[in-house]
Amino acid sequence: MPAVDTTIFTVMSVLAAQHHAINLGQGFPDFPMSADLINMTDEAMKAGHNQYTHMNGYPPLREALAEKVSFLYNTQINPDTQITITPGGTYALYSSMTAILRPGDEIIIFEPAYDCYIPAIELNGAKPVLIQLSFPDYKINWQEVKARVTEKTRMILINSPHNPTGAVLSKEDIDELRSVVKDTNIIILSDEVYEHLIFDGIQHQSILKYPDLLDRSFVCFSFGKVYNCTGWKLGYCIAPPYLMQEFRKVHQYNAFSCDTPKQVAIARFLQNKEAYLGLGNALQEKRDYFQQLMKETKFTPLPSHGSYFQCYSYKNISDEAEKDFAIRLTKEYGVTAIPVAAFYQSDVNNQVLRFCFAKQNETLEAAVERLLKI
Ligand code: PMP
Ligand code: GLN
Repeated sequence: MPAVDTTIFTVMSVLAAQHHAINLGQGFPDFPMSADLINMTDEAMKAGHNQYTHMNGYPPLREALAEKVSFLYNTQINPDTQITITPGGTYALYSSMTAILRPGDEIIIFEPAYDCYIPAIELNGAKPVLIQLSFPDYKINWQEVKARVTEKTRMILINSPHNPTGAVLSKEDIDELRSVVKDTNIIILSDEVYEHLIFDGIQHQSILKYPDLLDRSFVCFSFGKVYNCTGWKLGYCIAPPYLMQEFRKVHQYNAFSCDTPKQVAIARFLQNKEAYLGLGNALQEKRDYFQQLMKETKFTPLPSHGSYFQCYSYKNISDEAEKDFAIRLTKEYGVTAIPVAAFYQSDVNNQVLRFCFAKQNETLEAAVERLLKI
C-alpha cells in the first residue's frame, strides 16, 4: 500500500500529546462510560464467561439486538442468520467488502469520506468512485450518483450520521437511493456507527427500516461509539442471510469470535431500553454547549445533526491549508482538531476543521478559552 500513510487520527493525537494540547481531534469521549455496563462486565468475568463464545456472537446478545431492531425499526431479523458480532465497526465494514468484492468492481463513496474506506476498498482489489458532497451542507447530489453508476458498480457506501460532518440522510435520500439501485445488483454498505447519536428530533434513517433495501445491504454498527467506550472495539453487522453467509466465511478465519464477557454484559445492558434511548439527547447537550461557547470565537459553525463532531470554518482567521492550520492550532494555541481535507483524495481547502464535542464540559471550556485567544 505505497500510497497509504499514517491515519490523520493518530498523527493529530500524537501531536496533541507532544504539545500538551487539548485533544478535540480523534473521536473519543473523555467522560466515563456507564458504570452499570462496567459492573455487568465484571460480573460476567467472575461468573466464568471467559472462553470463546459462539463464532457469530454470544447468542443472547444477537437475540437482544434482533429485539432492539424490531422495537426501533419494526423489522424482524433472524439472530441466527442475519447478525454477526465483530471486533468493531471498522472490521464489519472491511469484512463486508472482502465478502463480496471482486477485482475491478467499483464502489461509489462520498467525500469527505471516513478514512478507512478507500484503503479497505483498494486492499480488496476494487476501485473507489468518488463523489463529493455539496459544500457547506454536505448533501448527496443524486443526479451525479445516477450518472456515475456503471455495469461495474458493485456497491454504494453510505454513512449517516456522517463522520466528519455530522450530516444525516433524510427519507428523501433513501428514496433516491432506492431509485438508483432498482433493477441493479448493487449492494449497499451502510455505516451506521453513530446510530443513536442524532439530534434535533431527527429520526435516524437506518437501512434496517426498509426491508427492500436491507435485502441488498450490509449494515455496520459499533458498540464502542454509542456506549462511550471506543476502546472496547466491539460492533456488529446485520445483513440478509445470503450476504451474511459470505461475511461469516471471512469472519471465521479472521477474528473467529469476539470478546466474550463484554458481549455477555451488553446482552444484559440492552434489556433496559434507556441504555440507548437517551444517548442522542445527552450528546446533543454537549453539541449545544460547545456551540454556545464557540460563539465568542472567530470560528463559524457548519450544521451538525449527529455523531460526535461539529465542523467549524476558520475563514475569518486564516487562508492557510487545513492541515497547516490544524498543526499551528495545536502547537501555538494548544487545541487539536482534524482537518476535513484529510477526508478528500484531491486538494480541497474549504477552511474547515472537525472538532469532537463528546467531552466533559470542563474540557470544552478549557479548549474554547484557548481558542478565544485567536
Ligand atoms: N465508521 C465511522 C464513520 C467511524 O467514525 C468509526 C470510528 N469509530 C468507525 C466506522 C469504526 O468504529 P470502531 O471503532 O467500532 O471500529
Ligand atoms: N472514528 C474516530 C474518528 O473519526 C477515530 C477512530 C480511529 O482513530 N481510527 O475520530
